[in-house]
Amino acid sequence: AVLNIPFDTKGYAVYGKLWKKNLVVEFPLSDRKGFIVGKVLFIKDVSQIYINFYVLMGILSVYSFALSLLSSLLLYVFSENLVDRIIKLQELSNRIKESNFSGIEFLKIEKPKDELDHLRNNLVDTALTIGKLLSELEEKNRELQELAYYDPLTGLPNRRFFFEHASLIFEEVKRYEKSLSLLVIDIDHFKEINETHGHDVGNLVLKTFAGLLRGIVRQSDICTRFGGEKFVVLLPNTDLEGAKVLAERIRATVAKNPVEHGSTIIVFTVSIGISQYRKGMQSVDELIKEADIALYRAKEGGRNRVEVFIPDETAEAQT
Ligand code: GH3
Ligand code: MG
Repeated sequence: AVLNIPFDTKGYAVYGKLWKKNLVVEFPLSDRKGFIVGKVLFIKDVSQIYINFYVLMGILSVYSFALSLLSSLLLYVFSENLVDRIIKLQELSNRIKESNFSGIEFLKIEKPKDELDHLRNNLVDTALTIGKLLSELEEKNRELQELAYYDPLTGLPNRRFFFEHASLIFEEVKRYEKSLSLLVIDIDHFKEINETHGHDVGNLVLKTFAGLLRGIVRQSDICTRFGGEKFVVLLPNTDLEGAKVLAERIRATVAKNPVEHGSTIIVFTVSIGISQYRKGMQSVDELIKEADIALYRAKEGGRNRVEVFIPDETAEAQT
């Protein structure tokens, strides 16, 4: 079988199956003149070398497989932990985006181990600063609203606007003896509206009323939301008769214009107190005080009414 091996030009070959291998080396035989007359074959059993080689390859494969398995496992555990921490950072930044700062200080890591922990602590600090700045901003906005002249809910001028303008008008009335009247309007049972239908519906009633009022009074009248559900209208150049007509128109219009909220219809009414400038009055506060007394009487009389202040009523009301 060895002699039938198809030798290549190199003169050697490894012959055999699986690990049973022989090394065959061919030496040509030549005579003195150099003619090839035959060949000598050396044959050596090299099975052991092959067995050693296969065993070594097996060990190496098992070893590298185990090594790659271990490193993939480590990589998986490490990346899982990393992804988990990155997700927590993402949640933190979402909370900042939504301005949800409640209890955010507890998300700080006491002993930061690496850059990621430092980043998380920085984010928490940033959130705390933003939260502080936002509440300062809200506070400043409230102050600005106080300083501003308009009520944000109804868009009507506010108390501050009223006093600044009314005092000028009052001085002019005092000097030139012009007529001046004032209405104090209060929504009836407003607390009940809030309690029955909710604060938002209460606000809707306030806005509806402000709209109706704006549509009725003159441009030259000073129409203000005094606070809560109380409105004050200053009527320059308007005598008591004129003020009564206007007040009655306001009362009747309100009673005819309920607020619709979904399928609910909320009928609401107002009570109105009227006062008029008299010689000797010192400030617009007196007009408000007197209209308040008349308003009180309108409430006492059953609400959805207009009442006029009667001079000397102050003494009666105080007793
Ligand atoms: P009366 O007929 O005697 O005037 O009774 P009332 O319920 O209207 O008056 P009361 O003074 O008892 O209640 C007024 C309520 O108005 C209490 C307060 O919660 C509510 N209120 C004040 N300001 C606002 C506001 O801006 N929006 C809403 N929805 N409610 C307000
Ligand atoms: Mg009221």
